[in-house]
Amino acid sequence: MPPTGIRPDPPISMPARHPLAILPTPLVEASGLSAALGGPRILIKRDDMTGFGFGGNKVRKLEFYLAEALAHGADVLVTGAGPQSNHIRATAAAARVAGMEAVVVMHGSMPTELQGNFLLDRLLGVQTHFTDSPDRSLVDRKIEEVAEELRRAGRRPYAIPRGGASALGALGYVECVREMEAQLAAMNLRPEWIVLATGSCGTQAGLLAGAKIYNMPYRVLGITVSRSADECRERIGRIAREASELIGHPIELSPKDILVREEYIGTGYGLVTPDCAEAIRLVARTEGLFLDPTYTGKGMSGLIGEIRSGRIGKDELVVFLHTGGEPGLFAHPEIGSSHD
Ligand SMILES: *Cc1c(COP(=O)(O)O)cnc(C)c1O
Repeated sequence: MPPTGIRPDPPISMPARHPLAILPTPLVEASGLSAALGGPRILIKRDDMTGFGFGGNKVRKLEFYLAEALAHGADVLVTGAGPQSNHIRATAAAARVAGMEAVVVMHGSMPTELQGNFLLDRLLGVQTHFTDSPDRSLVDRKIEEVAEELRRAGRRPYAIPRGGASALGALGYVECVREMEAQLAAMNLRPEWIVLATGSCGTQAGLLAGAKIYNMPYRVLGITVSRSADECRERIGRIAREASELIGHPIELSPKDILVREEYIGTGYGLVTPDCAEAIRLVARTEGLFLDPTYTGKGMSGLIGEIRSGRIGKDELVVFLHTGGEPGLFAHPEIGSSHD
């Protein structure tokens, strides 16, 4: 394989983006964390710093959705998830800069406290429908229903799937691969692993498609925080293939390309595990950097677990993708209540 960074780009046709993010995000050495773990060398790709609406991974996806919504003449974005959703907060912020409104569907019922992302949603003036059910998959159908109601009322809604997980959104992470390729080439580094927290699977799908298209040397390992590994593998494979077709560069994926570990979920989505809390404290105390309780804390607990089990070697180079989510910390004060 030739060294990264010197091949001509393969011919791809990227759809339009509406710029939101401040790019490139930094790729920084996490030497304190690495030392605390006794190796390996770890870099952190700071996508918590995408620089719009409190940052995070949803911003790269939204650049594509927003461009398409504007091209369709939309006047309202419709999406859904939970009250502490980073995706809803970022989508609402994107709607506002484009002069649109945001109408969203949340699973469960109205939270009793205005905190974290839910507080930010209020500041953005989001209109919220609750499903009054903990079943998160009900949100998907309700997004369609709300969009249909708006259409009947003469509005021009543009619906974005839960988590921004579709081929179009995943292109944000195909682009991120190219961005990292330039950063890694400038640092003369060839990582063995990219590790990230996986939820609705679009981010991992985009990274995987990008790694294939640009012939990158690393494996992409997702630490799932909600769905089973089997469900993730199916979704990642499908979204990665669709994303590659969308840009006219279809890829072949084999099952061994799609790496997901499910043993770090704990008792469920959004429920903080002791290992997650430990990972959040460790990264705060070694790097002065904050992870979130739902995604990146579990993602980091996964990276630490894979290192301790020897599945990630001490002589390998790891990039951890910090996908953001810090506002969620403020909805989980219990993380700060252990006095070690
Ligand atoms: C949504 C989210 C993820 C997961 O990304 P998916 O593309 O949904 O898999 C990870 N981290 C944070 C902070 C998120 O908000």
